[in-house]
Amino acid sequence: MSKVILVTGGSRGIGRSAAKLAGARGWSVGVNYADNARAAAETVAEVEKAGGKAIAIKGDVASEKDVIAMFDATSKAFGYVDGLVNNAGIIAPSLPLAEMTVDRMRRLFEVNILGSYMCAREAARRMSTSRGGKGGVIVNLSSAAARLGSPNDFVDYAGSKGAIDTFTIGLSKELGPEGIRVNAIRPGLIDTEIHAVAGSPDRAFTLGKQMPLRRAGTADEVGEAIIWLLDDASSYVSGSILDVAGGR
Ligand code: NAP
Repeated sequence: MSKVILVTGGSRGIGRSAAKLAGARGWSVGVNYADNARAAAETVAEVEKAGGKAIAIKGDVASEKDVIAMFDATSKAFGYVDGLVNNAGIIAPSLPLAEMTVDRMRRLFEVNILGSYMCAREAARRMSTSRGGKGGVIVNLSSAAARLGSPNDFVDYAGSKGAIDTFTIGLSKELGPEGIRVNAIRPGLIDTEIHAVAGSPDRAFTLGKQMPLRRAGTADEVGEAIIWLLDDASSYVSGSILDVAGGR
């Protein structure tokens, strides 16, 4: 069945892959991005080339106004939004907790936790059958860091993803009766630009060798799992947290 989805942080990395693979199924995609309009335009072109439709939507997931606007823009362009990929997320330079500023932690929690909660809340308001919606699917992006804790690197980031795991469990129970499935994916070490922000652009390559599968994963390998969770093929899967981490 054709779907209309909103991918937050769809301009690069894992979000772009999910958008592109959705396009290959003929789905329509709202491609949200924060600042990088050029990358978002490239994602839109990739979705269209793959056979789908897409629009780019600038907006900060940590802004309530922007979150509402990105749902409005997607439904205005393509109709009822029946899938949310809660993907936008940030990391910060590798540091022990004692060296972290409050501003850094606050922004990280605002984007990774509050942003995901607000996007899911907007989806719940629109998709819930008791509110006139037709149901839908939410896929949250957690991280293997939620299990590992990321000591001396980013305990703030790891904690933000632990919150996403717990959120997924609770929300799946809350929204199941509303016709909405909620699941999360915990990617392991995936080769995207996020590692440059953490201070080691080649992290995926160097650390990848230590993974059980002896390599980092690709954005497409996570994108495939996202698409499966969005698709009706996973119609009885809800409240699950799927590790896509190469055995890590
Ligand atoms: P990425 O390559 O750094 O891309 C981040 C995306 O999020 C970009 O599209 C960026 O937009 C967007 N974004 C950042 N802040 C935003 C905000 N405030 N509002 C809206 N969009 C925002 O990241 P990635 O590696 O693909 O990661 C995607 C998700 O997977 C994140 O939640 C991340 O924590 C999670 N994850 C990644 C890995 C990994 O190894 N890569 C592992 C585990 C979990 P612009 O292009 O405009 O900057």
